[in-house]
Amino acid sequence: MIILFLSLILFITNGQETAKNENDMKFELVKLPYAVDALEPVISKQTIEFHHGKHLQTYVNNLNNMIQGTKFENAELETIVKESDGAIFNNAGQILNHNLYFTQFSPNGGGKPSGKLAAALVAAYGSFENFQKEFETAGAGLFGSGWVWLAEDKDGKLSITKEANGSNPVVKGLKPLLGFDVWEHAYYLDYQNRRADHLKELWKIVDWTVVESRY
Ligand code: MN
Repeated sequence: MIILFLSLILFITNGQETAKNENDMKFELVKLPYAVDALEPVISKQTIEFHHGKHLQTYVNNLNNMIQGTKFENAELETIVKESDGAIFNNAGQILNHNLYFTQFSPNGGGKPSGKLAAALVAAYGSFENFQKEFETAGAGLFGSGWVWLAEDKDGKLSITKEANGSNPVVKGLKPLLGFDVWEHAYYLDYQNRRADHLKELWKIVDWTVVESRY
């Protein structure tokens, strides 16, 4: 009865949008674990507002609309990324990418990882500093829009992967741990064409406790 009443309220207040249902809200904009200006000067308030509030919100809205009436209507995000293509893949991939991206930063970030991730990085790249250098080189050298990721395989082996556009390491059967967005919308307001400078600055805000928890 209460649900019926609430539905009626929604019907009345929502007028022309009555064709939509609760599936519209399946995916939501991830909440930032910091204030919009908290990552300055590495990432400006304006960039966060556009990147999170406009770009990511658009991917969320697009995906919620596109999956209606498809086999992905009730699917998990990662499943959609692995099994879809075209526009649904692009938008789902970008939501997965950005959910990981925005939650891996902190105004108190920076420094180095510790524990088994630190050991695995040294084993794979010789040193943490060398890993950083290789990661930056991969990101700076990615042609066009995309992402550079630190990812692990099912045995915990680390690799740096470059993903074009909205793709994500899960497509290759890898688990994404840390991702730098090299789409121009991620840095152009603050760094213009200086992508490499932006990537170098991002280390200052990486929250390694979050990245370690993904490993
Ligand atoms: Mn982005």
